[in-house]
Amino acid sequence: MRVFFAVRLSEEIQDRLCSVLHRLRPCCAKGRFTPRENLHVTLVFLGETAPERLPETRAAMEAVSAEPFSLHIGGMGCFRRSGGDLYWAGVERSAPLCRLYDSLCGELQKRGFPTDDRPYRPHLTLVRQAVLAEGCDRGAFVVPAMRMKVEKFSLMKSEQAGGRRLYTEIGAKNLERA
Ligand code: ATP
Ligand code: MG
Repeated sequence: MRVFFAVRLSEEIQDRLCSVLHRLRPCCAKGRFTPRENLHVTLVFLGETAPERLPETRAAMEAVSAEPFSLHIGGMGCFRRSGGDLYWAGVERSAPLCRLYDSLCGELQKRGFPTDDRPYRPHLTLVRQAVLAEGCDRGAFVVPAMRMKVEKFSLMKSEQAGGRRLYTEIGAKNLERA
């Protein structure tokens, strides 16, 4: 089972990002646009995980100690990929977001799950395998600043269903003030 931890988005932020996606469409000759319900900020991608290990992933999630915080979204960036670029909305690498990330990684490592060595680069994927339409300048892409109160994070199952990527929340942990 393919699983990852993520911060899910409020309806309001989903709406606002959908407007951004709508404006991006005519700028892309090709691209896989993230469906509204799939918009998220990945914390940790565990990948293929034996179902027997799910209780340990849940235990790691439960053990996380982090406070509610404000997620700051804004600006757009791009990861260059051979099959077409990936465009993302920026997510501020704020101290409380990093504390949540570090706590989660620590709890996963204690239970023997490998985590990424690379520095955490929080982002919100908008379009994958994007090829810009002629005459479009990626400098024109704008994501207005938005903020959202994060009060929980989620354990997500990821599967391919009917040619689409389907995410299902299979666990959640509320963030609590110390
Ligand atoms: P698809 O792979 O079909 O394009 P997807 O990337 O949305 O769809 P997953 O591959 O299951 O679905 O990934 C779930 C989330 O984890 C996505 O946000 C993805 O960017 C992130 N992710 C996937 N692989 C990694 C990885 N190796 N390291 C960090 N994050 C990853
Ligand atoms: Mg993927």
